[in-house]
Amino acid sequence: MKRQQQVFEENMTTEEFDEEKFREEKAALEQNEELSIEKKKGKNITINDLPGIGPATAEKLTAVGFGTVMAIAVATPGEIVEATGISEAGARKIINAARDNLDMGFESGDQVMRKRERVLKISTGHKGFDAMMAGGFETGAITEVYAEFGAGKTQIGHMLAVNALSVEGEENPAVFYIDTENTFRPERIKQLATAKGMDVDAVLKKIKVGRAYNSDHQMLLVDKIEEMITQQNLNVKLIVVDSLTAHFRAEFVGRGTLADRQQKINKHMHALLKLADMYNICVYVTNQVMSKPDQFFGDPTQAIGGHIVGHASTFRIYLRKGKKGSRVAKLVDSPNLPEAEVAFYVTEGGLQDV
Ligand code: ADP
Ligand code: MG
Repeated sequence: MKRQQQVFEENMTTEEFDEEKFREEKAALEQNEELSIEKKKGKNITINDLPGIGPATAEKLTAVGFGTVMAIAVATPGEIVEATGISEAGARKIINAARDNLDMGFESGDQVMRKRERVLKISTGHKGFDAMMAGGFETGAITEVYAEFGAGKTQIGHMLAVNALSVEGEENPAVFYIDTENTFRPERIKQLATAKGMDVDAVLKKIKVGRAYNSDHQMLLVDKIEEMITQQNLNVKLIVVDSLTAHFRAEFVGRGTLADRQQKINKHMHALLKLADMYNICVYVTNQVMSKPDQFFGDPTQAIGGHIVGHASTFRIYLRKGKKGSRVAKLVDSPNLPEAEVAFYVTEGGLQDV
Protein backbone atom coordinates (compact mmCIF):
# COMPACT_ATOMS: atom_id res chain seq x y z
CA MET A 1 0.00 0.00 0.00
CA LYS A 2 2.76 2.37 0.95
CA ARG A 3 4.51 1.76 -2.33
CA GLN A 4 1.34 2.31 -4.26
CA GLN A 5 0.93 5.63 -2.53
CA GLN A 6 4.46 6.49 -3.51
CA VAL A 7 3.86 5.74 -7.16
CA PHE A 8 0.76 7.85 -6.94
CA GLU A 9 2.59 10.76 -5.38
CA GLU A 10 5.48 10.55 -7.78
CA ASN A 11 3.06 10.69 -10.63
CA MET A 12 1.32 13.65 -9.12
CA THR A 13 4.49 15.70 -8.88
CA THR A 14 5.48 15.29 -12.52
CA GLU A 15 4.12 18.10 -14.61
CA GLU A 16 2.23 15.94 -17.00
CA PHE A 17 0.25 13.25 -15.28
CA ASP A 18 0.44 10.17 -17.46
CA GLU A 19 -2.69 8.39 -16.40
CA GLU A 20 -2.14 5.32 -18.54
CA LYS A 21 1.34 4.77 -17.17
CA PHE A 22 0.07 5.28 -13.65
CA ARG A 23 -2.62 2.63 -14.10
CA GLU A 24 -0.11 0.19 -15.52
CA GLU A 25 2.28 0.63 -12.63
CA LYS A 26 -0.51 0.38 -10.10
CA ALA A 27 -1.77 -2.83 -11.67
CA ALA A 28 1.76 -4.28 -11.67
CA LEU A 29 2.21 -3.44 -8.01
CA GLU A 30 -1.13 -4.92 -7.07
CA GLN A 31 -0.31 -8.10 -8.90
CA ASN A 32 3.01 -8.30 -7.10
CA GLU A 33 1.29 -7.87 -3.79
CA GLU A 34 -1.22 -10.58 -4.66
CA LEU A 35 1.57 -12.92 -5.65
CA SER A 36 3.55 -12.36 -2.50
CA ILE A 37 0.49 -12.98 -0.35
CA GLU A 38 -0.24 -16.13 -2.29
CA LYS A 39 3.33 -17.25 -1.84
CA LYS A 40 3.19 -16.68 1.87
CA LYS A 41 -0.07 -18.55 2.33
CA GLY A 42 0.74 -21.97 3.69
CA LYS A 43 4.24 -21.94 2.28
CA ASN A 44 6.70 -20.08 4.39
CA ILE A 45 4.90 -19.87 7.68
CA THR A 46 5.54 -22.37 10.46
CA ILE A 47 3.68 -22.91 13.72
CA ASN A 48 6.21 -20.62 15.42
CA ASP A 49 4.70 -17.73 13.44
CA LEU A 50 1.25 -18.24 14.97
CA PRO A 51 0.20 -15.87 17.80
CA GLY A 52 0.93 -17.10 21.30
CA ILE A 53 3.21 -19.96 20.27
CA GLY A 54 6.65 -19.73 21.78
CA PRO A 55 9.42 -22.32 21.43
CA ALA A 56 8.19 -24.42 24.38
CA THR A 57 4.60 -24.57 23.11
CA ALA A 58 5.82 -25.31 19.59
CA GLU A 59 7.82 -28.22 20.93
CA LYS A 60 4.85 -29.63 22.82
CA LEU A 61 2.63 -29.34 19.76
CA THR A 62 5.17 -30.97 17.47
CA ALA A 63 5.65 -33.84 19.90
CA VAL A 64 1.99 -34.85 19.61
CA GLY A 65 1.60 -34.41 15.87
CA PHE A 66 0.55 -30.76 15.61
CA GLY A 67 3.83 -29.61 14.10
CA THR A 68 2.36 -28.04 10.97
CA VAL A 69 0.06 -25.09 10.37
CA MET A 70 -2.36 -27.41 8.58
CA ALA A 71 -2.51 -29.82 11.51
CA ILE A 72 -3.37 -26.94 13.81
CA ALA A 73 -5.93 -25.50 11.41
CA VAL A 74 -7.94 -28.72 11.48
CA ALA A 75 -7.47 -29.42 15.20
CA THR A 76 -10.14 -28.82 17.84
CA PRO A 77 -9.47 -26.32 20.66
CA GLY A 78 -9.67 -29.23 23.11
CA GLU A 79 -6.81 -31.03 21.39
CA ILE A 80 -4.60 -27.94 21.53
CA VAL A 81 -5.48 -27.34 25.19
CA GLU A 82 -4.63 -30.93 26.04
CA ALA A 83 -1.33 -30.78 24.16
CA THR A 84 -0.10 -27.48 25.56
CA GLY A 85 -2.02 -26.58 28.69
CA ILE A 86 -2.88 -23.12 27.34
CA SER A 87 -6.35 -21.62 27.78
CA GLU A 88 -9.18 -22.52 25.45
CA ALA A 89 -9.42 -18.93 24.24
CA GLY A 90 -5.72 -19.03 23.39
CA ALA A 91 -6.18 -22.31 21.55
CA ARG A 92 -9.03 -20.82 19.51
CA LYS A 93 -6.88 -17.86 18.59
CA ILE A 94 -4.07 -20.13 17.36
CA ILE A 95 -6.47 -22.29 15.34
CA ASN A 96 -8.11 -19.25 13.75
CA ALA A 97 -4.75 -17.76 12.81
CA ALA A 98 -3.73 -21.06 11.21
CA ARG A 99 -7.02 -21.16 9.29
CA ASP A 100 -6.68 -17.58 8.10
CA ASN A 101 -3.24 -18.34 6.83
CA LEU A 102 -4.37 -21.36 4.87
CA ASP A 103 -7.43 -19.60 3.47
CA MET A 104 -9.77 -22.50 4.10
CA GLY A 105 -13.05 -20.86 3.18
CA PHE A 106 -14.85 -20.69 -0.13
CA GLU A 107 -13.32 -19.75 -3.45
CA SER A 108 -15.13 -18.31 -6.44
CA GLY A 109 -15.33 -20.31 -9.65
CA ASP A 110 -12.78 -18.11 -11.39
CA GLN A 111 -10.34 -18.58 -8.51
CA VAL A 112 -10.75 -22.34 -8.86
CA MET A 113 -10.23 -21.93 -12.59
CA ARG A 114 -7.00 -20.02 -11.98
CA LYS A 115 -5.89 -22.78 -9.63
CA ARG A 116 -6.67 -25.32 -12.35
CA GLU A 117 -4.34 -23.44 -14.67
CA ARG A 118 -1.37 -24.32 -12.47
CA VAL A 119 -2.11 -28.06 -12.82
CA LEU A 120 0.80 -29.97 -14.34
CA LYS A 121 0.68 -33.41 -15.92
CA ILE A 122 3.26 -36.04 -15.00
CA SER A 123 3.85 -38.26 -18.00
CA THR A 124 3.65 -42.05 -17.78
CA GLY A 125 6.08 -42.16 -20.69
CA HIS A 126 3.41 -43.86 -22.80
CA LYS A 127 1.47 -41.86 -25.40
CA GLY A 128 -1.78 -43.79 -25.14
CA PHE A 129 -1.75 -43.86 -21.33
CA ASP A 130 -1.02 -40.12 -21.20
CA ALA A 131 -3.79 -39.45 -23.72
CA MET A 132 -6.27 -41.39 -21.57
CA MET A 133 -5.31 -39.12 -18.65
CA ALA A 134 -5.47 -35.96 -20.82
CA GLY A 135 -1.71 -35.50 -20.71
CA GLY A 136 -0.58 -37.49 -17.68
CA PHE A 137 -1.18 -37.84 -13.93
CA GLU A 138 -2.39 -34.50 -12.55
CA THR A 139 -0.80 -32.42 -9.84
CA GLY A 140 -3.21 -31.23 -7.15
CA ALA A 141 -4.91 -34.62 -7.15
CA ILE A 142 -4.62 -38.22 -5.96
CA THR A 143 -4.47 -40.93 -8.61
CA GLU A 144 -5.04 -44.46 -7.36
CA VAL A 145 -4.04 -47.53 -9.32
CA TYR A 146 -5.48 -50.78 -7.98
CA ALA A 147 -4.46 -54.14 -9.26
CA GLU A 148 -3.43 -57.62 -8.28
CA PHE A 149 0.14 -58.53 -7.42
CA GLY A 150 2.60 -58.21 -10.31
CA ALA A 151 0.37 -56.09 -12.52
CA GLY A 152 2.82 -53.18 -12.73
CA LYS A 153 1.76 -50.70 -10.01
CA THR A 154 5.30 -50.31 -8.72
CA GLN A 155 6.66 -50.00 -12.25
CA ILE A 156 4.34 -47.08 -12.90
CA GLY A 157 5.53 -45.47 -9.65
CA HIS A 158 9.16 -45.66 -10.77
CA MET A 159 8.28 -44.33 -14.22
CA LEU A 160 6.40 -41.36 -12.75
CA ALA A 161 9.26 -40.62 -10.34
CA VAL A 162 11.69 -40.24 -13.23
CA ASN A 163 9.28 -38.27 -15.39
CA ALA A 164 8.27 -35.90 -12.57
CA LEU A 165 11.90 -34.76 -12.52
CA SER A 166 11.80 -33.69 -16.15
CA VAL A 167 8.63 -31.59 -16.18
CA GLU A 168 9.33 -28.60 -18.40
CA GLY A 169 10.00 -25.26 -16.74
CA GLU A 170 10.20 -26.64 -13.20
CA GLU A 171 13.19 -25.51 -11.21
CA ASN A 172 14.84 -28.10 -9.02
CA PRO A 173 11.91 -30.54 -8.79
CA ALA A 174 11.80 -33.23 -6.11
CA VAL A 175 9.97 -36.52 -5.58
CA PHE A 176 8.97 -38.30 -2.37
CA TYR A 177 8.57 -42.07 -2.47
CA ILE A 178 6.93 -43.83 0.48
CA ASP A 179 7.84 -47.47 0.11
CA THR A 180 5.89 -49.87 2.31
CA GLU A 181 6.77 -53.19 0.64
CA ASN A 182 10.48 -52.68 0.12
CA THR A 183 10.07 -52.65 -3.64
CA PHE A 184 11.70 -49.31 -4.50
CA ARG A 185 14.73 -50.09 -6.63
CA PRO A 186 17.36 -47.45 -7.47
CA GLU A 187 18.61 -49.84 -10.17
CA ARG A 188 15.25 -49.60 -11.87
CA ILE A 189 15.33 -45.79 -11.66
CA LYS A 190 18.77 -45.95 -13.24
CA GLN A 191 17.47 -48.00 -16.18
CA LEU A 192 14.56 -45.66 -16.78
CA ALA A 193 16.60 -42.47 -16.40
CA THR A 194 19.30 -43.80 -18.69
CA ALA A 195 16.71 -44.63 -21.34
CA LYS A 196 15.58 -41.01 -21.17
CA GLY A 197 19.14 -39.72 -21.40
CA MET A 198 18.98 -38.15 -17.93
CA ASP A 199 21.82 -37.71 -15.43
CA VAL A 200 21.30 -40.80 -13.25
CA ASP A 201 23.05 -39.47 -10.14
CA ALA A 202 21.10 -36.22 -10.25
CA VAL A 203 17.84 -38.13 -10.66
CA LEU A 204 18.56 -40.43 -7.71
CA LYS A 205 19.49 -37.48 -5.50
CA LYS A 206 16.15 -35.81 -6.13
CA ILE A 207 14.08 -38.84 -5.12
CA LYS A 208 13.65 -39.01 -1.34
CA VAL A 209 12.69 -42.52 -0.28
CA GLY A 210 10.96 -43.26 3.02
CA ARG A 211 10.65 -46.90 4.00
CA ALA A 212 7.49 -47.22 6.10
CA TYR A 213 7.58 -50.04 8.64
CA ASN A 214 3.95 -49.90 9.71
CA SER A 215 0.85 -47.81 9.12
CA ASP A 216 1.66 -45.29 11.86
CA HIS A 217 5.10 -44.80 10.41
CA GLN A 218 3.56 -44.41 6.97
CA MET A 219 1.30 -41.62 8.27
CA LEU A 220 4.20 -40.00 10.07
CA LEU A 221 6.20 -39.90 6.84
CA VAL A 222 3.45 -37.80 5.25
CA ASP A 223 3.77 -35.26 8.09
CA LYS A 224 7.50 -35.35 7.56
CA ILE A 225 7.04 -34.45 3.89
CA GLU A 226 5.14 -31.32 4.82
CA GLU A 227 7.81 -30.43 7.34
CA MET A 228 10.53 -30.81 4.71
CA ILE A 229 8.58 -28.78 2.16
CA THR A 230 8.16 -25.85 4.52
CA GLN A 231 11.63 -26.01 6.04
CA GLN A 232 13.63 -26.63 2.87
CA ASN A 233 11.28 -24.90 0.44
CA LEU A 234 11.26 -27.98 -1.80
CA ASN A 235 9.56 -27.92 -5.18
CA VAL A 236 7.85 -31.30 -4.82
CA LYS A 237 6.10 -32.51 -7.95
CA LEU A 238 5.22 -36.09 -6.99
CA ILE A 239 4.52 -38.20 -3.91
CA VAL A 240 4.31 -41.96 -4.43
CA VAL A 241 2.71 -44.15 -1.75
CA ASP A 242 3.36 -47.77 -2.73
CA SER A 243 1.41 -49.49 -1.30
CA LEU A 244 -1.21 -47.26 0.30
CA THR A 245 -3.15 -50.08 1.95
CA ALA A 246 -0.82 -53.04 2.56
CA HIS A 247 0.12 -52.13 6.15
CA PHE A 248 -3.43 -51.21 7.08
CA ARG A 249 -4.68 -54.46 5.67
CA ALA A 250 -2.12 -56.54 7.54
CA GLU A 251 -2.52 -54.75 10.86
CA PHE A 252 -6.27 -54.58 11.04
CA VAL A 253 -7.47 -58.13 10.69
CA GLY A 254 -10.96 -59.21 11.56
CA ARG A 255 -14.24 -57.38 11.33
CA GLY A 256 -14.11 -55.75 14.75
CA THR A 257 -11.30 -53.42 13.81
CA LEU A 258 -12.54 -52.57 10.33
CA ALA A 259 -14.06 -49.25 11.36
CA ASP A 260 -10.79 -48.18 13.03
CA ARG A 261 -8.87 -49.13 9.94
CA GLN A 262 -11.17 -47.19 7.65
CA GLN A 263 -10.92 -44.15 9.88
CA LYS A 264 -7.15 -44.25 9.81
CA ILE A 265 -6.98 -44.74 6.05
CA ASN A 266 -9.39 -41.83 5.70
CA LYS A 267 -7.15 -39.59 7.78
CA HIS A 268 -4.10 -40.67 5.78
CA MET A 269 -5.81 -40.00 2.45
CA HIS A 270 -6.89 -36.56 3.56
CA ALA A 271 -3.40 -35.65 4.70
CA LEU A 272 -2.20 -36.60 1.21
CA LEU A 273 -4.99 -34.69 -0.50
CA LYS A 274 -4.16 -31.57 1.47
CA LEU A 275 -0.51 -31.79 0.41
CA ALA A 276 -1.59 -32.29 -3.21
CA ASP A 277 -3.85 -29.28 -3.07
CA MET A 278 -1.70 -26.91 -1.06
CA TYR A 279 1.56 -27.48 -2.86
CA ASN A 280 0.28 -28.54 -6.29
CA ILE A 281 1.71 -32.05 -6.05
CA CYS A 282 0.75 -35.17 -7.98
CA VAL A 283 -0.01 -37.96 -5.50
CA TYR A 284 0.17 -41.51 -6.85
CA VAL A 285 -1.07 -44.29 -4.58
CA THR A 286 -1.22 -48.02 -5.25
CA ASN A 287 -3.82 -50.37 -3.90
CA GLN A 288 -4.32 -54.10 -3.94
CA VAL A 289 -7.44 -55.98 -4.84
CA MET A 290 -9.02 -58.85 -2.98
CA SER A 291 -11.21 -61.44 -4.55
CA LYS A 292 -14.93 -61.21 -3.99
CA PRO A 293 -16.08 -64.82 -4.21
CA ASP A 294 -19.75 -63.85 -3.87
CA GLN A 295 -19.63 -61.64 -6.97
CA PHE A 296 -21.17 -63.45 -9.94
CA PHE A 297 -21.40 -60.59 -12.42
CA GLY A 298 -18.68 -58.20 -13.52
CA ASP A 299 -15.16 -58.20 -12.14
CA PRO A 300 -14.79 -60.54 -9.15
CA THR A 301 -12.16 -58.32 -7.55
CA GLN A 302 -12.45 -55.32 -5.29
CA ALA A 303 -9.97 -52.68 -4.15
CA ILE A 304 -8.86 -52.67 -0.52
CA GLY A 305 -10.14 -49.82 1.58
CA GLY A 306 -13.33 -49.74 -0.45
CA HIS A 307 -15.27 -46.51 -0.49
CA ILE A 308 -12.87 -44.63 1.73
CA VAL A 309 -9.97 -44.88 -0.70
CA GLY A 310 -12.22 -44.61 -3.73
CA HIS A 311 -13.87 -41.41 -2.61
CA ALA A 312 -10.66 -39.67 -1.60
CA SER A 313 -8.94 -40.55 -4.89
CA THR A 314 -9.50 -38.05 -7.67
CA PHE A 315 -8.68 -40.54 -10.42
CA ARG A 316 -8.99 -44.32 -10.16
CA ILE A 317 -7.34 -46.72 -12.55
CA TYR A 318 -7.79 -50.47 -12.62
CA LEU A 319 -4.72 -52.26 -13.93
CA ARG A 320 -4.75 -55.88 -15.03
CA LYS A 321 -2.61 -58.35 -16.92
CA GLY A 322 -3.59 -58.65 -20.58
CA LYS A 323 -2.68 -60.99 -23.42
CA LYS A 324 0.94 -62.03 -24.05
CA GLY A 325 2.38 -60.29 -21.01
CA SER A 326 0.77 -56.95 -21.81
CA ARG A 327 -0.93 -54.76 -19.20
CA VAL A 328 -4.28 -53.03 -19.52
CA ALA A 329 -5.06 -49.85 -17.61
CA LYS A 330 -8.69 -48.78 -17.35
CA LEU A 331 -9.70 -45.34 -16.13
CA VAL A 332 -12.72 -46.17 -14.00
CA ASP A 333 -13.31 -42.88 -12.21
CA SER A 334 -12.43 -39.30 -13.05
CA PRO A 335 -14.12 -35.95 -12.39
CA ASN A 336 -13.66 -34.76 -15.97
CA LEU A 337 -12.53 -37.59 -18.25
CA PRO A 338 -14.48 -40.42 -19.89
CA GLU A 339 -13.97 -44.10 -19.07
CA ALA A 340 -11.27 -45.52 -21.30
CA GLU A 341 -8.73 -48.33 -21.61
CA VAL A 342 -5.18 -48.58 -22.85
CA ALA A 343 -2.78 -51.52 -23.31
CA PHE A 344 1.01 -51.47 -23.02
CA TYR A 345 4.09 -53.51 -22.18
CA VAL A 346 6.44 -52.88 -19.27
CA THR A 347 9.95 -52.89 -20.76
CA GLU A 348 13.41 -52.01 -19.54
CA GLY A 349 13.14 -48.44 -20.86
CA GLY A 350 9.60 -47.84 -19.64
CA LEU A 351 6.08 -48.42 -20.94
CA GLN A 352 5.75 -49.37 -24.59
CA ASP A 353 3.00 -49.83 -27.16
CA VAL A 354 1.47 -53.24 -27.75
P1 ADP B 1 2.92 -54.66 -8.66
O1 ADP B 1 3.57 -53.49 -8.02
O2 ADP B 1 1.60 -54.34 -9.29
O3 ADP B 1 2.83 -55.86 -7.79
P2 ADP B 1 5.23 -54.53 -10.36
O4 ADP B 1 5.12 -53.11 -10.72
O5 ADP B 1 6.26 -54.92 -9.38
O6 ADP B 1 3.81 -55.10 -9.90
O7 ADP B 1 5.40 -55.32 -11.71
C1 ADP B 1 6.24 -56.42 -11.82
C2 ADP B 1 6.40 -56.74 -13.30
O8 ADP B 1 7.04 -55.66 -13.96
C3 ADP B 1 7.26 -57.93 -13.50
O9 ADP B 1 6.50 -59.10 -13.47
C4 ADP B 1 7.83 -57.66 -14.87
O10 ADP B 1 6.91 -58.14 -15.83
C5 ADP B 1 7.85 -56.16 -14.99
N1 ADP B 1 9.23 -55.63 -14.87
C6 ADP B 1 9.88 -55.31 -13.74
N2 ADP B 1 11.12 -54.86 -14.00
C7 ADP B 1 11.26 -54.89 -15.33
C8 ADP B 1 12.32 -54.56 -16.24
N3 ADP B 1 13.49 -54.09 -15.78
N4 ADP B 1 12.09 -54.72 -17.55
C9 ADP B 1 10.93 -55.18 -17.99
N5 ADP B 1 9.89 -55.51 -17.20
C10 ADP B 1 10.06 -55.38 -15.89
MG1 MG C 1 4.32 -53.38 -6.11
